[in-house]
Amino acid sequence: MFIRDIFSKKNPVISFEVFPPKREFPIDVVYDTVEELRDLDPDFISVTYGAGGSSKDRTIEIASEIKNKYGIETLAHLTCYTSTRGETEFILKELKRNNVDNVLALRGDPPIGGFNGKSDYKYAKDLVSHIKAFDDFSIGVAAYPEGHIECDSLDKDIEYLKEKMCCGADFMITQLFFDNEKLYMYMDRLAKKGIDAPIMAGIMPVLNKNQIQKMVSLSGASLPRKFIRILEKYEHKPKALRKAGIAYATEQIIDLLSWGVDGIHLYTMNKPKVASEIMKNLSEVRDAVTEEKYMELDDKGAY
Ligand code: FAD
Repeated sequence: MFIRDIFSKKNPVISFEVFPPKREFPIDVVYDTVEELRDLDPDFISVTYGAGGSSKDRTIEIASEIKNKYGIETLAHLTCYTSTRGETEFILKELKRNNVDNVLALRGDPPIGGFNGKSDYKYAKDLVSHIKAFDDFSIGVAAYPEGHIECDSLDKDIEYLKEKMCCGADFMITQLFFDNEKLYMYMDRLAKKGIDAPIMAGIMPVLNKNQIQKMVSLSGASLPRKFIRILEKYEHKPKALRKAGIAYATEQIIDLLSWGVDGIHLYTMNKPKVASEIMKNLSEVRDAVTEEKYMELDDKGAY
């Protein structure tokens, strides 16, 4: 099923992100995670591509298993920074052959030490155009509520996001953020620029201070004062920090759902127990929002 069609039927759309294990680990470890995530009834699970040193060539295999063995819709991430069109087409054909209909089209980060090989792409929008022309996929792209770290102005970054949408993207998933107001202001700016496709809020539960420092230095996400206080107070008390991180993510999501965001994308870090605790905290809230959406669609005669 195309993810673009899920948005027209459901609110909130809930997705989880997993990453392929590194080559030296058996691939099966990720399936234990997927099995636990399946019980949480996600609308789809996305699989990263080479992010954080994870193995690129396992993305197709894992996405395919999620779809065909576990019966869950899936979104395969794909980067283009160091790719040729031929390499992309090979992957797209493999995805289609395995019934994977959804791709998150990304540029990727420059390789450490630079890249001297051949690339046919400069920006993610070039990949979006290529996928769109090649076959029928539902295409997602990355969006940055506080601007992409390489871009010197949020307005320019939004212009470039609009280019990605105009090239054929159907929906957006945001980079992690810890201050919901940043997302609300961002969405106002997107609306003013005529970007009205569904957007999923990317939420990362914080479980340790090192993890968050790394993420913040990579993404440039700002940290609200109440979040810093939690990090500082419990940084040497792992159990307390875990609880506080889960509570913070839960509170962030409840606020986002009350505000009416289209979907929540949980960066699970392959930790299904954390995802499970968050989803348990949310269950009545998720049901209430879903019920409201069904009634709205029913009134419009969609059912
Ligand atoms: P682009 O949209 O191409 O933007 C890259 C930079 O170029 C930005 O600064 C933008 O402002 C600028 N730009 C864009 N268009 C133009 C233009 N026409 N002229 C001038 N400047 C322009 N990385 C991975 O390696 N694997 C993953 O699986 C992965 N998954 C991700 C999932 C999500 C939800 C997110 C938010 C990010 C993910 N990333 C992943 C990280 C992503 O690859 C990096 O953030 C990367 O640096 C930018 O990718 P992009 O697709 O946003 O690039």
